Amino acid sequence: MIIKPKVRGFVCVTSHPVGCAAHVQEWIDYVKAKGPIKAGPKKVLVIGSSTGYGLASRITAAFGSGAATLGIFFDRPSEEGRPATPGWYNTIAFTAAARKAGLYAKNIMGDAFSDDIKRQTLETIKADLGQVDLVVYSLASPRRTHPKTGAVHKSCLKPVGASYTNKTVDTDKGIVSEVTIEPANEAEIADTIAVMGGEDWEMWINALREANLLAPGAQSVAYSYIGPEVTWAIYKNGTIGLAKNDLERAAKAINAQLAANGGGRGFISVNKALVTQASSAIPVVPLYISILYKIMKARGTHEGCIEQMQRLFATHMYNGNTPKFDEAGRVRVDDWEMVPEVQAAVREIWPGITTENLAALTDIAGYREEFLKLFGFGLPGVNYEADVEPHVPMI
Ligand code: NAD
Repeated sequence: MIIKPKVRGFVCVTSHPVGCAAHVQEWIDYVKAKGPIKAGPKKVLVIGSSTGYGLASRITAAFGSGAATLGIFFDRPSEEGRPATPGWYNTIAFTAAARKAGLYAKNIMGDAFSDDIKRQTLETIKADLGQVDLVVYSLASPRRTHPKTGAVHKSCLKPVGASYTNKTVDTDKGIVSEVTIEPANEAEIADTIAVMGGEDWEMWINALREANLLAPGAQSVAYSYIGPEVTWAIYKNGTIGLAKNDLERAAKAINAQLAANGGGRGFISVNKALVTQASSAIPVVPLYISILYKIMKARGTHEGCIEQMQRLFATHMYNGNTPKFDEAGRVRVDDWEMVPEVQAAVREIWPGITTENLAALTDIAGYREEFLKLFGFGLPGVNYEADVEPHVPMI
């Protein structure tokens, strides 16, 4: 079939297998071109491995340091006549490329929050890898079924304490409007912390440690975001921010455990705001990203997921380097986003943005391009008029 993008709000309901593979190859090529990351990870578990920061971490570990990787992800497989979600195709493309390069790559698809997927993962590590020396925790999920209570927690993106009004953009239609979001109640706050907080990361590390599957000196990293004041009410000080505070709490507990395991460490890396499936669902943030891209591209400091993760591994975690922590013990690869000149430029542009000047004052075109790329559309060299088989089996 001929597969075209079908955008519905902040998701695209189709994806292109050949385009997704080309996207993965772009990321692999980038990491290879940057050269080897010395003394890098050798056996890596990536939880949330199929898209965004998790996929970029996996590609960096494999093609920067020759690591064996085990990826855990949750996507919709392809069917006869129906494309999969992009992570399915990304995973197939990554796995094929890694194996071709002589690297171990295996995948477990299913709910990473569940005891069953954790058990399958432990068994696979035990049988194939012995131990892992890096655990990347990069889940972004709208819900979690708690493995002990069976309760289904749904995360929400809301302010806390007071309602919040600001500009937002419908990235598909290019319409700028004002949005008011009512504050979350206590149950919504607790639910968001249950989904996006640190409990599940701790469960993973405990399970791995108890099964003796963490190599001495093993590290673990999870990802967070802080961003500028204009988004604080909806992000940093909102429900998701409170969940990220809990992730930071978990990082400290995990760090203590890993330090005791042969001098390893557990920490948070605060990453840059980027177009991913997770971030496109957040009100206000896509407008900020569109402005940010324009400013950072003009300054020559723009990065995508792969540039961010390659920099994290090469300049903080490995290559003879150690992480440079901020006052709260976090690595900051959002440093180029947060430089005062960039943020001052965002503040200057923000109040004047309208539907009419959106294209001129922001990089909404770049936003859309990146958004479509997440689904395998707009990749150079891919013939989108050609017939393509959507049903691709996992390898
Ligand atoms: P993403 O949506 O691209 O990736 C999420 C991954 O989690 C996918 O591989 C998906 O398959 C997997 N996943 C989701 N639910 C799962 C489940 N129940 N079981 C197994 N796998 C599951 O998201 P992303 O933007 O790369 O986010 C990853 C992390 O990075 C999040 O913690 C996010 O908060 C953080 N972060 C994102 C940004 C940003 O701007 N996108 C910035 C800083 C930090």
